[in-house]
Formats: sequence, structure tokens, C-alpha cells
Amino acid sequence: MLAAELLLAHSQATAFVGAATMSASINVEGFRWNSFPLRVLVDMNEWSTQDYAVAVREALDSWVRSIWNYTNSFNDTSLTMISYVLYVSDINRTNDYNVLVTFAASEIDPPSNTVGLTTARWNVQTHEPLPPVTVNITTYSATADRLFIRNVAMHEFGHTFGLGHASPQNTLDGPELMYYLSSRNRVLYPSTLDVYGLAMLYKGMYSKTVQLPASIPYKMLSEGTVPRPTSDCWEDWPRYVPLLGSIAIIPVLVLVLRKLGHKNKPEQAAEETPLPPDDLTSVRNI
Ligand SMILES: [Zn+2]
Repeated sequence: MLAAELLLAHSQATAFVGAATMSASINVEGFRWNSFPLRVLVDMNEWSTQDYAVAVREALDSWVRSIWNYTNSFNDTSLTMISYVLYVSDINRTNDYNVLVTFAASEIDPPSNTVGLTTARWNVQTHEPLPPVTVNITTYSATADRLFIRNVAMHEFGHTFGLGHASPQNTLDGPELMYYLSSRNRVLYPSTLDVYGLAMLYKGMYSKTVQLPASIPYKMLSEGTVPRPTSDCWEDWPRYVPLLGSIAIIPVLVLVLRKLGHKNKPEQAAEETPLPPDDLTSVRNI
């Protein structure tokens, strides 16, 4: 069993410095999903808002878009099967899910300063996860903004897919999503390193440290220029129309937050503490 928590440390902003690609590497876990789409249930409670459900969807969608961008940029189709279906407990609850997202009022104990926690167990022989993988995110009593929830969720979903942490803090054009210190005031995307690491994991490279080849530039993948294939990522689509309408304000929100962030907001960071392994199942928490 392997366990670790994501801790939040309030610190002064760290100046962005382009990362050296020479040492860009990421750890991958001992499990991978064998069937898609992932069935993700967002369990709404008094510490969550509709905005947070949208943020979770944005986080998952950013992964799918980044993977699609990677697929088209580097001719590697090994991850094209990754997809998801999203359920929200107060709209279309289901008992048939394999990823559960929950919200906490405050930073998650133990220890304090933990803003996100993902727990995954898997069979060490078959490398299959034992559902559900759980993702817990603090909302600071529903005061956290959507960008914060989106970024924490995106980092946590990286672990949910099977990634560990990346070694560099920054890519060449922005923060590294899977670094153990997390920048919360910027719009983040998975990096080429993150998706390359996933590609290696899903080709069977378990529990390894994966190095980004020199042939692949180390950068955030963003959404790319190739339109991704259409897919039904939401079930019961019509009932989500009110939620989806609010997505339109995201570009404005992002611009405002980025400006604020560049002015005077301290960068918030997170770190993780591993616990001892056991030999039957493995657990990954962030
Ligand atoms: Zn983490």
C-alpha cells in the first residue's frame, strides 16, 4: 500500500523560470484503467456549488483535449481510448461509477494544508484499479473559486489516470501540472511530459520514472489546433444545459484571475508525503 497526501503551503510567489528539458521526468504508478469511459460521479454536498461540478468537467475535458492534442502532434495513438462520462449526484446520480469526487469544507486532515486527496487501490498482479478511486477536494466552505477547483481536480485526475509526480516545477511555457507544488492562479493544462508518461504507463511501463525524449518539446499541451472527435462526455445531456451555459464566462474569468494573479496574489503550493507500501494492494493519495 502506498499513501500520500497533497499539502498546501502558503508561500510567496515563485518567479516563473523556464524548465530545463534535460531532466524532465515523471513517476507512473502501478495501475492503469483497462476499460473506458471512466464513470465519474461528482458527489455534491453543502461544500459544493454547481460551479464546482463544471470545474470538474473542465478538468476532465482538459485532459481529453490535451491527450488529443498530443495524439495529433506526435502521432502516438496509444491514449485515444481515454474518455469519461460524468454524473452529478443531485442531477443524475448513479451507483455505477468507478471514480468518486467529493468535496471537503476545509483542508483535508491529516495533516492540515491538504487541499486534494486521491486514493487508488489496485491489484498488483493485474495492475487493475479496485473501484472506486476517490478524489477529495477542499472548497474552503464553498468559497474557493472555480479555477482553484479546476486546477486541483486536474492534478488529482492525473493521479487517477495513474500518474505520480513530475520532477520539474515548470515546463518551457508554464507550470508543470503534476509537480508536487501547485500553482493555483493560472490556467493549467497537462504537459507533454504528463501525457507521454501516461502513454508509457498504458503501454505497460508500471511503477517507473519516465523521461521525456528530446524529440518532444516540454510544454503545456493546451487544446491544440486539431478539432477533437465529438463524444458524449455527459449523460442526460439536456439537464446540463444550465450548467454548460455558465462555461461561457470562463474566458473572461480566466483573464481576470490571471491579471490578479500576476499583480499580487501569492502562489499557493502543495506537497505530498508518501507512506510505507504494503504488498497486497497499492493506494495513491494526493
Ligand atoms: Zn499530487
